[in-house]
Amino acid sequence: MRTPIIAGNWKMFKTAAEATAFVEAVKGKAEVGGVESVICAPFTALPALVEAVKGTTIRVGAQNFHWEESGAFTGEISGVMLQDLGVKYVIIGHSERRAYFAETDETVNKKTKAAFQYDLIPIVCVGEKLEEREAGRTKEVCKVQTDAALEGLTAEQAAKVVIAYEPIWAIGTGKSSTAEDANEVIGYIREQVAAKFGDSTAQAVRIQYGGSVKPANVKEFMSQSDIDGALVGGASLEPNSYIQLVEGA
Ligand code: PEP
Repeated sequence: MRTPIIAGNWKMFKTAAEATAFVEAVKGKAEVGGVESVICAPFTALPALVEAVKGTTIRVGAQNFHWEESGAFTGEISGVMLQDLGVKYVIIGHSERRAYFAETDETVNKKTKAAFQYDLIPIVCVGEKLEEREAGRTKEVCKVQTDAALEGLTAEQAAKVVIAYEPIWAIGTGKSSTAEDANEVIGYIREQVAAKFGDSTAQAVRIQYGGSVKPANVKEFMSQSDIDGALVGGASLEPNSYIQLVEGA
């Protein structure tokens, strides 16, 4: 059985004080047995967040990092720095980073491999653009991105990766995929993991759906056989909404 995982992606929202206030509001509520709850915050809020979640089951994630441990990389943050803070997860290859910050399949792979050196669980994002979907290329795009991201991992590492299937046209637009369509693509991604690492790894790997998930539709996605959780942007920013997302999982 795969443990469902709800991850909030706060993007470039919330100061340290706002992050602390958020945790105070969701403590004991966004904590449901059998569901993992992870908040991925901007770097500057991470120390406060790690402190605030102490004694809760909520975990903290970053939204990016550099694969090198240290060096002349102005403005970057490394895995060892996140580990030092007590961060447990890191989003890799979010479509906003691919679109605006030159993230490529190659850098996604470097970061995915590096995450394991620092005990960080990678949440690797894959997903098609609207024109790719309209051209019937959804599965092909997801296969290429998934294969590239997981290249060079051991089966044991691959089993720990969380993959987030996020159709780009559904992110922040209010338009979500249907639960059935998302389940079909996620089932296909799982088949690609099986082809690369074997069935037991594919059965262990958790694959989330992301793209305009909210309290009103989270249960529908979660009722699908292959969907193991959600990566949620906008609807993760408000405490009551976040609580309902975790409860809905
Ligand atoms: C995201 O940022 O990964 C995301 C899915 O955003 P939203 O839920 O706002 O569509």
